[in-house]
Amino acid sequence: MRVAVVGAGFSGAVVARELAEAGHNIDVFESRDHVAGNCHTRRHESGVMVHVYGPHIFHTQHERVWNYVRRFANFKPYRHRVRAMVGEKAFQMPMNLGLINSFFGTAFTPAEAEAFVATKADATITNPTSFEDQALRLVGRELYEAFFAGYTRKQWGVDPKELPASILARLPLRFTDDDSYFSHPYQGIPEHGYTAIVEAILDHPNIGVSLSTRISRAELQTYDHVFWSGPIDAYFDHQHGRLGYRTLDFTPEVVDGDYQGCPVVNYCDAEVPYTRITEHKHFAPWESHDTSVIYREYSRLCGDDDVPYYPIRLVKEKAQLVDYVQLARAENGVTFLGRLGTYRYLDMDVTINEALTVADASRQAFAEGGRPPAFLTDPLG
Ligand code: UDP
Repeated sequence: MRVAVVGAGFSGAVVARELAEAGHNIDVFESRDHVAGNCHTRRHESGVMVHVYGPHIFHTQHERVWNYVRRFANFKPYRHRVRAMVGEKAFQMPMNLGLINSFFGTAFTPAEAEAFVATKADATITNPTSFEDQALRLVGRELYEAFFAGYTRKQWGVDPKELPASILARLPLRFTDDDSYFSHPYQGIPEHGYTAIVEAILDHPNIGVSLSTRISRAELQTYDHVFWSGPIDAYFDHQHGRLGYRTLDFTPEVVDGDYQGCPVVNYCDAEVPYTRITEHKHFAPWESHDTSVIYREYSRLCGDDDVPYYPIRLVKEKAQLVDYVQLARAENGVTFLGRLGTYRYLDMDVTINEALTVADASRQAFAEGGRPPAFLTDPLG
C-alpha cells in the first residue's frame, strides 16, 4: 500500500513507523523545517537543550506507550516540579499540603488540611461544568483567585466561567507534600530531546520524509490512503472558518548561572503579562551548563500565520468542529488523527496511544483489503 502521512509530529511518526514495519511504503510530508511538531527540541549554542515550543514532559499511565517510546530513545528519570508566584510569594505547585500550609499560614496534618479545604469549598455547586465552578467546588474562592483565576485568564483569554472543567482536571490536589507535577507511574525525558526520538521513529527504509513541504489535495489523491495529522480545518481549506487556537510567544534570554533553580515558574497574577518562565537546562538535570536559556511565555489568540497550540473548543469552535467532522466522515481514504487532526488538547502520551490504535486498525483494514475510518477517536466525544 502507498500511504501518505501529513505531519511529522508524534502522531504522524508513529503511524508511519507502524505501517512501514507492516511492509507498506510511507511518504511523510511536514510543512515545517523540522520533525516533532510542537515537541521539537534544539540545542542552543550554549549546549542547553531548548524545548522550542515550550515545556514538554513525558508522563504516562500506558505501559504500551512507555515501552514504545523507550524503543527509540533512552529516557532519563525526571520529576517535574513547578513553582507558582502569587504576589511576592513563592509556592510549590500543584496544590498540596505544603502549598495549603504556606498560603494559609498553618501547620496542618493531611487530615486537618483536607477538613479545612472542605470548609472553604463551595458545596452548593453540585454539578460543576465550568473551570470556575470546578475550582470553587474543589478548593474554594481564596485558592481559586490566587492560583487559578489570573493564570487561566491569561492563558485562555476568556473568563474561567466559560472554560470546561476538564482543563482544571489536569491538575492534582494532594494532601501530602508530594510536589511532583504529574501523578503518572512512568515519567521521564528523552536523553537527547524529542526531535531525536521522532527522527528515530521515522528512521525506516520504507519511510521517506519531506520537510518544508505542503502537499496538495490533488497529490494526496494519488495515494491508497492518507493519514492527516495537520489541522482538520486546513484540510478542508477552512471552508467553515478557522478553528480557534491559542498560540504562545516566547522571549528568550541567555543568562549566567542558575536563574530560578527549577524548570518552570508560573506567574499566577493577572497583572504579570506572561504566564510562566521556563529555564530549559532544568529539563536535563543529568547535564551541566554554566549558561542558562530562559523563555518568558505569553499566550494570545492564534492568527492565520501563527503556530497553533491549544485548541479553544468553546461553543463557537465546537459548532464549527461538528461541520468539519461531518465533512471528514464523508471523505474517502483519509484518517484524521492527533492534536490538530482531531482538534483536542492532547498530551504526548495520549497522542502516541491514539496513533498506535490508528495503526492497529489500519494494519488490519489494509490486510483485509479495506480502509480505516475517518476517526478512531471521536473528536466530539
Ligand atoms: N493553571 C492555573 N494556574 C497554574 C497552572 C495551571 O490556573 O499555576 C490552569 C490553567 O488554566 C492551565 C491549566 O490549569 O491552562 C492546565 O495547566 P497545565 O500546567 O497542565 O498546562 P500546560 O502545561 O499544558 O500548558
